[in-house]
Amino acid sequence: QAHLDRIAAVDADIHAFLHVSDHALDVAADIDRRRAAGEPLGPIAGVPLAIKDVLVTTDMPSTSGSRILENYLSPFDATVVARARAAGLVPLGKTNMDEFAMGSSTEHSAYGPTHNPWDLDRIPGGSGGGSAAAVAAFEAPLALGSDTGGSIRQPAHVTGTVGLKPTYGGVSRYGAIALASSLDQVGPVTRTVLDAGLLHDVIGGHDPHDSTSLLDVWPSFAAAAREGARGDVLKGLKVGVIKELPDAGFQAGVSESFREALSAMEAQGAEIVEISAPHFEYGVAAYYLILPAEASSNLAKFDSVRFGLRVDVPGGTVEDVMAATRDAGFGDEVKRRIILGTYALSAGYYDAYYGSAQKVRTLIQRDFDEAFAAVDVIATPSAPTTAFRLGEKIDDPMQMYLNDVTTIPANLAGVPGISIPSGLAHEDGLPVGIQFLAPAREDARLYRVGAALE
Ligand code: GLN
Repeated sequence: QAHLDRIAAVDADIHAFLHVSDHALDVAADIDRRRAAGEPLGPIAGVPLAIKDVLVTTDMPSTSGSRILENYLSPFDATVVARARAAGLVPLGKTNMDEFAMGSSTEHSAYGPTHNPWDLDRIPGGSGGGSAAAVAAFEAPLALGSDTGGSIRQPAHVTGTVGLKPTYGGVSRYGAIALASSLDQVGPVTRTVLDAGLLHDVIGGHDPHDSTSLLDVWPSFAAAAREGARGDVLKGLKVGVIKELPDAGFQAGVSESFREALSAMEAQGAEIVEISAPHFEYGVAAYYLILPAEASSNLAKFDSVRFGLRVDVPGGTVEDVMAATRDAGFGDEVKRRIILGTYALSAGYYDAYYGSAQKVRTLIQRDFDEAFAAVDVIATPSAPTTAFRLGEKIDDPMQMYLNDVTTIPANLAGVPGISIPSGLAHEDGLPVGIQFLAPAREDARLYRVGAALE
């Protein structure tokens, strides 16, 4: 009730939610009954959960921020949602996002942008700005996001929250409306590292419904966070800093906050090691070929027949109906990426664009392999700037894309990444995040290091 009250009080200004559950209190009462009946519920049973609208739910619409899925009701729950329900979490509602998770500001949502609770004139990040804003504004204690190129970590950075992208295959993608299947991962957005670990423990682990789901048995991430909070984990920790990551392009306050965080780690016994990752900076270029290629294929299923919107064209052919539906149902950014992706995949261009991008992806993976032979984690600022103003970059896709320079390489390599708050920038008093990356399957290390710094 407290969270529903908070949503009623502030969400008209923030617009973190696209849909608020009308039966959250009934679900909460039911969990009380299950608890009273002795059903073994998890450690966070009864805690409300905000769910990014990219995750399908049977009891609330799932639009992925698009008109083409307006009012769409899924016949099944995403695995992460099903696991959250089974653990006794209470779904509060569905959060706003850039259409089909394409964007860094939520301004590409078909339902209007979300506002950053720190300054309502500024963006909350994207694509998962709704989840991060809901958590930052105390509308929800926990939220689920998805991260294809930074959509959990960059919103966490600009809202002063914690966001973690798991190792690829660590959390099920079943029921996460696909953007780019080789990059997408679902993960937690919370106010503390321990909260993220508690939620990750609920949603993670093998899922036979997802063919890319790892078979690993994972350690408890909450336990890792508690271990980190007890201290000592920074002693002797080798923290890699990428020498090619240009200082230029980073807001002064972001660089300063980053250096201060590194000094604080050094003071606690960490060793800062300069590493070389020469292909890191080509991540954005490779990503904006691989992502549109996969997205153009994934979005082909919105054909006016199987899902959502259909625009009738009297006397028209099936193709006329498809074209009219996709024209009315998709926004500009989605159309831009479908065209880019279709072009990159077309015969004659495939090797030059898609093929080259895949080679760059391999080089980035090798950079990470070499780096992690020398260091335990890599640290970067989570994004180049603090929250920019709504409208500032909406007409300049290149500027929008460059926001993802530090987050994208983790998705290309499949490694886990966390963003935790590292203070406020001196210029504007807005939150800044520091990102840590670890080798694949070492998500627990990020919880230990993150909690140690908190
Ligand atoms: N901002 C990136 C993009 O626009 C990341 C999106 C994401 O992680 N879903 O593609």
